[in-house]
Amino acid sequence: MDHDAPHSLHQQPVPGEERFLCLALVNTRYALSHGQVDLLEDPGAAHLWLVRHELLPDRTKLTGRHIARLRALREALRELFAARAAGTAPPAAALDTVNAALAAAPPTPRLDWSGREPRRADEPDAANPVGAALGALAEDGAELLTGADAGRLAPCGAQGCTRWFLRSHAARRWCTTKCGNRVRAARHYASRKSPADPPPGRPAP
Ligand SMILES: [Zn+2]
Repeated sequence: MDHDAPHSLHQQPVPGEERFLCLALVNTRYALSHGQVDLLEDPGAAHLWLVRHELLPDRTKLTGRHIARLRALREALRELFAARAAGTAPPAAALDTVNAALAAAPPTPRLDWSGREPRRADEPDAANPVGAALGALAEDGAELLTGADAGRLAPCGAQGCTRWFLRSHAARRWCTTKCGNRVRAARHYASRKSPADPPPGRPAP
């Protein structure tokens, strides 16, 4: 089986995804010109996404229920991001979903000092690998929402784009240069068709 997604599914990663997996998770659902793409649409696709992000051992099987929980966590994080960005109260159900994922398979705290410096090396719950993966994503979401970067969380302003990103500066409105260029091209096209221009037509006889 070919594990590589078709080229058309690849999007430029948005700023912040390299540091926050929760951001990569909410952006697994996005729009392309020919329709919606969902990188978690079935157990095979979701398994690939989790393994690629080093959240799940390759041998772990995913069931339909696991996928439902993963997708519910994605939608809950999306709603919490929207509430944070808008400065509104979060939907209670979304908060419950994230808190349930945090509580389901907490890692065992551990201090490692095998190298020169001591470091935290919390151990995921090996008995519940899917719960641990969801917990790690929920934890990452909680870190983002409560950390110094929370104020930079923004939805892409390009029409039809559903992705979230971390603003590199306050004025940034597009998730990627691709979205920015698309908006600029649309504006340019609209301005060329504005009523100020003479209407196209045949010259008067
Ligand atoms: Zn965008």
